[in-house]
Amino acid sequence: MTSSHPFTHSGSPFRKSRILLFFTLLVGAIILVSFLWPLLKPVRFDGKQAYQHVLAQVQMGPRIPGSPAHHAAVKYITSQLQRHHWEVLLQETTISGIPVINIIAHRGSLSPRLILGAHYDTRQLADQDENPDQRNQPVPGANDGASGVAVLLEIARVLPKETKDINLVFFDVEDQGEINGLPWIIGSSYYAQQLTVLPEAVIIIDMIGDADQQIYFERNSDTKLQEEIWQIAADLGFSSRFLPYPRFSMLDDHTPFLQRGIAAVDIIDFDYPYWHKTSDTPDKVSPESLAAVGRVLVQWIHQRGW
Ligand SMILES: [Zn+2]
Repeated sequence: MTSSHPFTHSGSPFRKSRILLFFTLLVGAIILVSFLWPLLKPVRFDGKQAYQHVLAQVQMGPRIPGSPAHHAAVKYITSQLQRHHWEVLLQETTISGIPVINIIAHRGSLSPRLILGAHYDTRQLADQDENPDQRNQPVPGANDGASGVAVLLEIARVLPKETKDINLVFFDVEDQGEINGLPWIIGSSYYAQQLTVLPEAVIIIDMIGDADQQIYFERNSDTKLQEEIWQIAADLGFSSRFLPYPRFSMLDDHTPFLQRGIAAVDIIDFDYPYWHKTSDTPDKVSPESLAAVGRVLVQWIHQRGW
């Protein structure tokens, strides 16, 4: 029995201390990198986080202007924005007897070069529902309302802190048109009227979360801006989601800006079978669709240098 454990003869005390030093440095480096990684890694638009904002809004209930759920949405959007170092201004008025609250997020300038907008109210009547008995019910607004807000909130998280030339605006009372004689796009019309310094561009996102996503050029939108944005979508591999052909012609929150001569685009996926129905629920929305729109916009902002 002459053999012994291989490590008994393996090294001098000097060699052992070098091995110990090596492992100490290795462990130290691992701890340091794991501590710094969250600070160093690039912040990327996360479709799953955006989807959580969809769920949170739908859980509040229909965000009908003047309702408790609508009030909860204002609080939620405001607190999410403040958490990511945006200042929040509530632009309040009353139009046609309806309280209107546009939520404006800025980081210093209220005269930005770019406005990104989405409506956060939801339609009080599901008047497109297949079932006539459901048409007096409200729309849950997972896609029509919550999806645009969700993408804006996730953009608010990922934009660099030094972003000065962008305002994020959450428009109220977009979606109550033709109910008791109300017009559409009340909040954005009021906001556009109040602008004293005009932005270079306005991008509206509406109904962009459909799991079966196809976003076409909207016919009234600024052609040059659309081509720029859809090109970025193609570069990012989203050409099956962003189709560079005109399809629908929309009256939406971009309209009041176009009327003031501002280059504006409506990014909308109007092929949505659950539009203004009680079936507009979160299972029709996907994190991947939210991520596609969010990543395209973040990349476009980056390329523009805004
Ligand atoms: Zn709608």
